[in-house]
Amino acid sequence: MSERGRAALFFGPGRPMELVELPVPDPEPGAVVVRVTRANICGSDLHIWRGDGWLGAMARDDGRIIGHEMTGVVHALGQGVTADWGGRPLAEGDRVVYQYFAPCGRCRSCLRGMSAACRHSFGVLRGKPSVFPHFRGAFADYFYVDPKMAIFKVPDSVPDPVVAGANCALAQMVHSLERVGVGPGDHVVIQGAGGLGLYGTALAKARGATQVIVVDGRRDRLELAARMGADQLIDLNQLPDPAARVARVTELTGGWGADVVCELVGSASVIPEGLQMLGPGGRYLEVGTFYPGTTVDLDPGRLVSGNLRLEAVGSYDAVSLGRAVEFLAAMVGRLPLDQVLVDFPLESINEAFAEADAGRVPRASIVMTG
Ligand SMILES: [Zn+2]
Ligand SMILES: [Zn+2]
Repeated sequence: MSERGRAALFFGPGRPMELVELPVPDPEPGAVVVRVTRANICGSDLHIWRGDGWLGAMARDDGRIIGHEMTGVVHALGQGVTADWGGRPLAEGDRVVYQYFAPCGRCRSCLRGMSAACRHSFGVLRGKPSVFPHFRGAFADYFYVDPKMAIFKVPDSVPDPVVAGANCALAQMVHSLERVGVGPGDHVVIQGAGGLGLYGTALAKARGATQVIVVDGRRDRLELAARMGADQLIDLNQLPDPAARVARVTELTGGWGADVVCELVGSASVIPEGLQMLGPGGRYLEVGTFYPGTTVDLDPGRLVSGNLRLEAVGSYDAVSLGRAVEFLAAMVGRLPLDQVLVDFPLESINEAFAEADAGRVPRASIVMTG
């Protein structure tokens, strides 16, 4: 093929991204080339853009395509691909979502049913943009779906702005709440009402949680959380003292404390407060601070005496992405699933990152077409 597509190359923190043109690859057997229609700027992308923790080391002098939260349409199917991972027929032009990483399927983690922990998953994202398959990130016109990446067709009833968050934040929360076992009777605290927190709120309620309490410092995000099903909101501006917030959770849970607290802020600094919000036997879910390089003070005796469980979840398995799509199909029109997005064209990607970094937009979304 002699077609070319645009890609935004990231060179490192503090350096503007540049648009280049790369050759559109032919898919190998089992692979799919997707024409990206929409890619959101996720909290993880902001951490990479800022070079938080160890992430500055991801910079490359010859650039890399970052971004992973996206949706698109099938541009070309590799030999042998006739259906998605749910068994539905797949054809050129079909709208799809897909994993952006590729668990190997045969390592110790994969064999034990823990493909989210596969060490080989992110190898596909490395490699020079000048080398096949070129398109390894979301902020580009195309994305190369490796044969090991799960891909699912998107129902017509679920529009692009709704489904764009499925392959990162939503699938992540489907997998995470399953792992930590949120269910009927649980009192759940969500620390941080960004993409993860808003989906987490809706999913926790759908899984039967008795009460979901959302903590954030932005009124617009708290209001969205309420529309996603939050029962109680804690505004950091009204309760600036962490001890007062812990006391509020204790009060809202009848003096017991929460069953599950979820760190979805992306900052280690909120962990001690979150742990204190847990009641006896509680589970602390760590998802937000995904990059190594920050630390936190822990009181192990409190964990032991409270029989607390710490569950950290990075990435997700294939079935969680399929479930994320099913969840959206069931909830579209009932929840404000697409109203967190503010659109930017690919040419304005630097402005989009600056706006997202400054917190002036709830979730910036890069639109490749139309
Ligand atoms: Zn993400
Ligand atoms: Zn593996």
